[in-house]
Amino acid sequence: FRLGLTIFYTSHIKNWQRLEQIKVEDWLNQWSGKRTMERIWLPLLRAKLSDNYKKASAAFIWAIIARMYAARRSGMKKEMFGYVPGGYARILDALGKKLEQAGVVVHLNHRVKRVESSSEGINVTFEGGHQVRFDEVVLTTPGPVAADACPQLTSEEKARLRGIQYQGIVCASVLLKKPLAGYYVTNITDSWVPFTAVIEMSALVDRKHFGGSALVYLPKYVAPDDPLFNESDENIKQSFLAALARMYPSFEPSDVLSFQISRVRYVFAIPTLNYSCELPSMSTSVPGVHIVNSAHIINGTLNVNETVQLAERTIPELVSMPAGAERTEHAGA
Ligand SMILES: Cc1cc2nc3c(=O)[nH]c(=O)nc-3n(C[C@H](O)[C@H](O)[C@H](O)COP(=O)(O)OP(=O)(O)OC[C@H]3O[C@@H](n4cnc5c(N)ncnc54)[C@H](O)[C@@H]3O)c2cc1C
Repeated sequence: FRLGLTIFYTSHIKNWQRLEQIKVEDWLNQWSGKRTMERIWLPLLRAKLSDNYKKASAAFIWAIIARMYAARRSGMKKEMFGYVPGGYARILDALGKKLEQAGVVVHLNHRVKRVESSSEGINVTFEGGHQVRFDEVVLTTPGPVAADACPQLTSEEKARLRGIQYQGIVCASVLLKKPLAGYYVTNITDSWVPFTAVIEMSALVDRKHFGGSALVYLPKYVAPDDPLFNESDENIKQSFLAALARMYPSFEPSDVLSFQISRVRYVFAIPTLNYSCELPSMSTSVPGVHIVNSAHIINGTLNVNETVQLAERTIPELVSMPAGAERTEHAGA
């Protein structure tokens, strides 16, 4: 009952700024009680934030509950999340073509090492030394990466960017001959399992899109300095597959057609106490250099909708070009 009450009450809160001042741990303890906290909330918080849950404010859980409620509301109490056949590869391909038609030059696989302002413009130096000059630059990389790339920022700006606390991820993408259990999302609360969820894409998307196979993601959310980042692919594969075999009796290691691992140290910014007050500004003290990234999503969860909305809201304000023209381009993209 107290679990339901917590969710219902949280979903009706409008003043999320107030929740930024309370630790999520204290908030959930207060509303759900110790037993529900230990059995339900704590394992879920640990799954997403590892021990960093201790740093998160109650605005974190508010944003998640608000998003679930919005999805249900829009679907007459039925959850509504969409999937584009072909996934992000298809969306990015279409976006790339659209940008090309508009005369935009996209440089893929160009790691930015340095962004410096000079009297002629903003010089961007890529890995390998290649340089390109621009009138304005918007960095959309995580805060610490932007701080390292821009030596002309003030020490206060760098400290704010580096002060954003991120959670990282190690995620396995597994192609299987047959499905596991047929559930789209299974959140794992048992601490012996080396991943934090089982996402069976093929429970949502017809297997014909994967050549008849089943596609499963096994994410493990970890702090950016977690030793898992230095673990070999082979060791991760062995421990993940051993856990799958224990969890799903019908799973056979010979079902695995492909197993790939991605590692990203800075995936999402943890909404820490008084988060929105501590955030670095999007315009910097270096003329023409702006830093906007998903850490600037202050009252929502990390997802593509929020990220695109952030870009649409922000870019016309930052870049000195006619705002109407920019908006039209985004809307059509
Ligand atoms: C496991 C997982 C599942 C998710 N599932 C969903 C979902 O189902 N639906 C949904 O809406 N959202 C989902 N999200 C969230 C979604 O991925 C993010 O909202 C979105 O990717 C944020 O976009 P971004 O451009 O801010 O950051 P990113 O997509 O992280 O892009 C940052 C880019 O910067 C690049 N970069 C870093 N350093 C440099 C450098 N020095 N030079 C040049 N480039 C650099 C990186 O390579 C990267 O491509 C998921 C996230 C995760 C981790």
